Amino acid sequence: MDEFELIQNYFNWLLTDATVELGVGDDAAIFNLDSGYQLVTTTDTLLEGVHFFKDASPEDIAYKALAVNLSDIAAMGAIAKYFTLAITLPKLDEIWLKKFSESLKDTSSKYNVSLIGGDTTRGPLNITITMMGVVEKSKAIKRSGANNGDNIYISGEIGDAALCLKKINEGEEPDKTEIVKLNRPIPRLNLGHALNGIASSCIDISDGLEQDLSHIIKASKVGAIIDVQKLPLSQSMANYIKVSNNWSLPLCGGDDYELCFTAPKNFNSEIINMAELCSVRITKIGVINDSKNLKINGYTSKNKSYQHF
Ligand code: ADP
Ligand code: MG
Repeated sequence: MDEFELIQNYFNWLLTDATVELGVGDDAAIFNLDSGYQLVTTTDTLLEGVHFFKDASPEDIAYKALAVNLSDIAAMGAIAKYFTLAITLPKLDEIWLKKFSESLKDTSSKYNVSLIGGDTTRGPLNITITMMGVVEKSKAIKRSGANNGDNIYISGEIGDAALCLKKINEGEEPDKTEIVKLNRPIPRLNLGHALNGIASSCIDISDGLEQDLSHIIKASKVGAIIDVQKLPLSQSMANYIKVSNNWSLPLCGGDDYELCFTAPKNFNSEIINMAELCSVRITKIGVINDSKNLKINGYTSKNKSYQHF
């Protein structure tokens, strides 16, 4: 099997999206955009040893590579549409490729996104996906829109992915539910799009709430106050805190891919309804103020969120 047969066999499946004029197989892809919409695009790389363990399953790697990119589109309040896949493989392992490709296909059909192209090379395992989405013109939710007095909310529960990683690194066996949180984060696409026109700013929590909320306040030139007691925690996270009183995991742990967003106070009841409509927990964790810094009530540790450098 050569490079082109590999692409044909594993990365070229039938498109069902009528807006795609040309997908895999030419020098570039072509798709049609409705007028009145803007293209929203984002890229994320998954590296062996950094983003997943050497023994991670091809199914989990494919899922997560897509999910983390979808999460960025969700955080913009956009609708995910198309993606390209740049994959570097150490060797031609058909069993691995088949599992990877099937998981990628299943996940992309679940979230209604089309693979329209990519690049295939040999080297240390690396998966880079570029996701494209659309949003009504000027409606994207940026990090820079938070205003003094806005409420701050987060979706889902945070800290579980970091707790799972901590257990693995310390040689402890994580629970099944914790492993699912780490390997299969749910991109909050429905919520992100529903927040369009309601949220004043939004970010997905990939590096830790403390750092990601700091991005919002910096971009918006405001401050924020949150309270650790209000953070939404799973049962296992709550148990861990009870024993350790260590809030670093939910505050600074990455990989949750929940949304952190702000909205004017008068939208509070709409947001509560939205939680039900989108079948996701939404919790108010604090408010935006004009202080220019982030105050976390109940947190005294100096631990900080993840950075690559
Ligand atoms: P070129 O040499 O013109 O850049 P390639 O030979 O790299 O084209 O790729 C041929 C076609 O296959 C292109 O349409 C490209 O987008 C697609 N492609 C290559 N690798 C992948 C991949 N991993 N997943 C999906 N499409 C791919
Ligand atoms: Mg070419």
